[in-house]
Formats: sequence, structure tokens, C-alpha cells
Amino acid sequence: MRARRLLLGLFAGLALACGAVRAAQGDIELIDDLVRQGDETPDSAIRAIGELSNKDLAVTPLLRRAALTGVGIVQARNGRMAEALAQVAALTEFGRTQPLADADAHLVRAEIDVNGGHMASSYQQARAALAIYSESCAPGPRHDIACNYRDWWRALDMAQRGAADQGNAVIANGYAQTMLDVARRNGDRPREAISLGVAALQAEANADPAAANRLIAQAQRVARGDGAAWVQLRVAVLGGLLHFRRQQPEAVQRDYEAALSVANAAGLKRPAMLLRANLADAYIHQGRPGDALAAIDLALPVAKLHHDSRTERLLLHNRALAKLALGRVPEGKAEMTHVLELWQKDTGPGQRQEALHEFGDALGKAGDTAGALELFHLEEALTREIRAANKSAAEAELRARYDQESQKRRIELLGRDNQLKQAELDNQGLARRLWMFAGAALVLLAVLALMMYLRMRELNRTLVEHEALLRAHSERDALTGLANRRQFREVMRVRGGERAFRGALLMVDVDHFKRVNDHHGHAAGDRVLVEVARRLGAAMRADDLVARWGGEEFLVFAPNVEGAELDQLAERVRVAMNQAPVVLDNGTSIETTVSIGYAAFPLPASHVPVTWEQAVNLADLSLYTAKNHGRNCAVGIVRTTAASSEALREVEADIAQARDDGRVTLRVSPEAAAA
Ligand code: GH3
Ligand code: MG
Ligand code: MG
Repeated sequence: MRARRLLLGLFAGLALACGAVRAAQGDIELIDDLVRQGDETPDSAIRAIGELSNKDLAVTPLLRRAALTGVGIVQARNGRMAEALAQVAALTEFGRTQPLADADAHLVRAEIDVNGGHMASSYQQARAALAIYSESCAPGPRHDIACNYRDWWRALDMAQRGAADQGNAVIANGYAQTMLDVARRNGDRPREAISLGVAALQAEANADPAAANRLIAQAQRVARGDGAAWVQLRVAVLGGLLHFRRQQPEAVQRDYEAALSVANAAGLKRPAMLLRANLADAYIHQGRPGDALAAIDLALPVAKLHHDSRTERLLLHNRALAKLALGRVPEGKAEMTHVLELWQKDTGPGQRQEALHEFGDALGKAGDTAGALELFHLEEALTREIRAANKSAAEAELRARYDQESQKRRIELLGRDNQLKQAELDNQGLARRLWMFAGAALVLLAVLALMMYLRMRELNRTLVEHEALLRAHSERDALTGLANRRQFREVMRVRGGERAFRGALLMVDVDHFKRVNDHHGHAAGDRVLVEVARRLGAAMRADDLVARWGGEEFLVFAPNVEGAELDQLAERVRVAMNQAPVVLDNGTSIETTVSIGYAAFPLPASHVPVTWEQAVNLADLSLYTAKNHGRNCAVGIVRTTAASSEALREVEADIAQARDDGRVTLRVSPEAAAA
């Protein structure tokens, strides 16, 4: 376990100069190299970084930050705390406008703490830096192009170490994986190799030796491919640590000795110092305290030179163990007490526990059982402390993961909810369209129905007209166009039917018509009938009804004529008929006269109600009288004394007798005819 502690220290200090700076490298990468050189020759590295940032007046914020950070790290790693803190202050000031500069400030503080051996505080600073880097450097919408991924990686590296120091393998492994991601994403082979080595250690810690083997082999392959001494050194040390974990001390020693010769060949004194510190650890484990002491004596001055208090503490720790193992108990115990005080000041419980365990063992082996027991009790208390911390850390980890899961589920549910809502909206849209369609269809149907109705009405109207025409034809007399007998009857029925008949009737008959037929032919007779009808119609008023009652017999119904007016009408009709002869197409002139029988109902003076048939009969009786008077005359019933239907029937039965009796008075015109 000592080796792990030592190697973590080595990890912090192993950034080294590695040959000439390549001209083609960008300024940032140049600073990265200079920071490594600063481990060995801090002054020239700091000067070079200063020149680099001064040479360009229009220095970019990225370069300015990189320079401040680089100088800060170099000074921190060389124990120049005041100078390093000045860089922190400058970065913090810069951080007002550049959030990433704040992260850089935390990073430099973390380096200061590492150098001072304040591991818990260093872990805290590294996490504060990561809170910003993780946000701005990760690919995605919040990625800041001013991000220097190397600083992010460096912060991850320190946080990983901090988590491992606290015994939290889960979180440490998370950081290791992110380191690997960052290195790969940026095509940084050296950092990829180192990340692989760190991941191998984490796999081993997580009881997955197959993965650990695969990862360390990968790390070695990449490191060899890169060729840089500092990378090969780091990977060799990580391999040694892996072997140490597996309790293969010979392999550990082999790894470290190989790395030491690489460091010596490259003239890298600081890694050589760290390797010696680790080798010392291995020698102690192998029961070779003398060799350990020799290696420590070579390494300690270098640690002091660079103010590397952390490595110095580790060296002092191992020197105390070596002296105890060599039996120099009082001397070793005094150094041990000093080292335990150093550990107590600022380290995680994991490291303190390991230290107590080792010293307890060493004291036991050296025969100081009381001292060993005392340390054992201290260690036990610490173990309980660690378990509690691990438990709550694991719980926090679980809770974080649970929160993430439930957040993911909530987002999924929201997504599904949105899908449902969208589907609902789609359905509503569809329903709306269907309704609109149905509405449009209804309107269309209504329009169609209306059109059909109008068309039907039009058709009906036409039908009615046709029907009326047909009826008119059937009701009209075909020859003369006058109303026929049927229509006359229909008019009578409509006007009152059975009730008392009111109005005047004129029965008109062509005289000796038979002779016309006989002398001129039937067609000529027709022609005469047509002319008679025309003259009859012309003589009457519009509201009178003129009908062809029989062959050459016409019946006129004049509703509003009576008395003298009726007499004049009858006379006018008679005169109109024989006023001029009817001229045939062949030039033949035919003299035509008519006889008329007429009366107005109810009959004057009697007021006996009569049916229309009875009225027609009375008109016909008058016509008969007119024929008897020699034709071409009109005979009207002027008055009657018949006061009852019976009496009227008797008049009807023999109108001539009734005339003689004075029961009826007739008027004959012209007066000549009456004579
Ligand atoms: P009177 O003066 O007594 O009425 O003698 P008349 O010859 O007019 O009467 P009668 O009843 O003896 O003869 C009527 C004739 O009218 C008989 C018939 O052949 C003829 N007649 C009836 N209808 C038509 C018709 O539509 N066209 C023609 N050309 N003759 C008709
Ligand atoms: Mg007749
Ligand atoms: Mg006649």
C-alpha cells in the first residue's frame, strides 16, 4: 500500500521536460511542454512562458489563461507558494469575465495543495475546477471554445487521486474513465496512455484483473508508440503499482528499476527521485531496509530542492519504516511520530489508515508491542470512520444515479405524454375536418335538395299548366273555343250548386241552321258557327260566361245584368248576329239570324228561388217562345206572379198558357216581332 501512496505522489510530479520544443506546436501545447520542463528547471520554464505570452500583443484570453495557469502550476510544484498564489489571484480576477479562468484558479490551488501535502483540500479544489470544466469543456451546446482540455484532464487526474485517497473506488473509476474519454477525444496519445494506466489500476481495485491486464498492456503500447520519456516513465510506474497491488514485489521492482534507467538516461532528476522513493518502498516490502535507506538518501535532497513536501513526507515515512526494520527503533519511532503528525495534518483517512497499519506492523516486528497496540486502536477507529464515509458516499452515488434515472424516466414520460397529446390534437383535427366535411356535405345536400325542390316545383308548375291546358281543351268547345256544356255546369256548381241561382241567362239559337248545312255544306255550317261564337263573345263583357250549349245553341251567363239593361243586351246580341252576312272563303255570303230567350233570376216580383237548371229551362222556354214569334227576335221574362215553387213549376209546364193567364209577362224585341 505504501507504493500506491508514493506513486500518486510520483504522478503529480512526473510532468517533465522531454526534449526540444517542436517548432510547429501551437502556443498552448508549448506551454504544456514548458510546464513539464518546469518540474526540472522552473526558472527557465517560467521565463519561456512569460516570453510566449508577451510576444503577441493581441494575446487571446485562452493563451493568457494558459500562461497564468502554466506559471502557477510550475511555481506550485516547486513549492513557491506566494508566487503561485499570485497567479491564482490574477486568474480569479480574470475569472470575472472568463468563467474558465475561475476553474484554472482552482486548478492551480489544487496543485499548491498537492505540493503542500494537503490532499483533502486539493481534492476539494480539483472538484471545484471540474464543476466548471465539465460544463464548458464537454462536447455539446454549452461547449466553450476557450476550453483547454489539458487543464480539464489535469483536474480529473487530481480528483481521481483524491477519490482514491478517500477510498471511494466508484467515483475514482468514474474520473479515470472521463480522463480516458477526454484524452481520446482530443487525440492526445500521451494522456491516453496515462489514462489507460490509471484505468487499469481502477479495474484492479474493482476486482477485474482481466480488464486491468488489458488496459495496462494498451497503456504500454500507446506509450511506446508515443516515444516520449515522461510518458513511458509514467506508464512503467503505473505498471509497477499494478504489480504491487497483486503482491508481486519482484515485478514491481523490475518495473521501477527499468523506469529509473529511462529517467537517468533522459537526465530527469525529479522522476528519478520519485522512482527511488517507490523503489525504497518496494525494498522495504521485500525486507531490504538497507537498500531502501540508500535510495531514500539519494532522493531526499532532490525533493527538498524542489520544495516537494509531499514526496519528502513519503520519503520520511519510508525512512522511518526502514530504520525500524533495521532495528534503529528509537530513531525510527521518533521519525515515525513526526511523519504521523504530517499525515494527520492534511490527508484522507484512507492514507492515514495505511500509515498506521504499516507503522503498527513495523513496531510489532521491531518488538514494541505496546506501541503497535496503540497504533492498532487508532487504525481501528479510522477504519470505522472510513466505512461510514464510504457508506454515505455510496448512498450519495446511488441517490445521484437514482435521481438521474427518475429524471430520465420523467423525461421519457413527458415525451410519451407529448406524443399522446399530439395524437389527441391530431384526432381533434381529424374530427374537426370530418365535421367540416360533414357540414359541407350537409350544405351541399341542402343545396341539392333546394335545387331539386325548385326543379320539382317548376316541373309541377309545368305539369299544372299542361294539365290546365288539357283541361281547357276538354272544357273548351273544339270548334268555337268557347266553354262547353261541361265547363258551364262546373261554373254553376262552383257558384252555388244547389242554392238559389242568381244572375241573367241568355239562350241563343241560330235560326234555320239546318238549311245552311243543307245548302252550303257542313263545313260552311261550321264556319257560320265559329263566326256566331266570335260575335257573341265580342258582344259580352269579360266577366260573362259564353258557352256552346248544343249544336247551334249558345248559353250566356251574365251575373250582374238585369232589367232594362238585360233587355238591351239581348237586343244588341240579336242585332250583332244579322248585322252582316257571314262570308265564306269561296265568297258565298250567308245571312244569319238568331233567336234569344232570356231572364234574370230570381225572377222579378216572385223572388221564388230557382236552381240553375231550372233557370236554364226557363231561358229555353223563352227561346222557344222567340221561335214561335217568327225567329230573329229576343224574348225575356219580365215578371211573374208565381209566388211559390209550385206555381213556378206550373208556369214552366205551359208558359204560353201562363202568359195568357198573366202569371208571366214576356218582353219580345224587336217590337215588330212581338206584333
Ligand atoms: P230552327 O230555326 O228551328 O232552329 O231550325 P234549325 O234548322 O236551326 O234547327 P234543327 O234543330 O232542326 O237543326 C239543327 C241542325 O244543326 C241539325 C244539325 O245537323 C246541325 N248541326 C248541329 N251541330 C252542327 C255542327 O257542329 N256543325 C254543322 N255544320 N251543323 C250542325
Ligand atoms: Mg237548335
Ligand atoms: Mg236552330
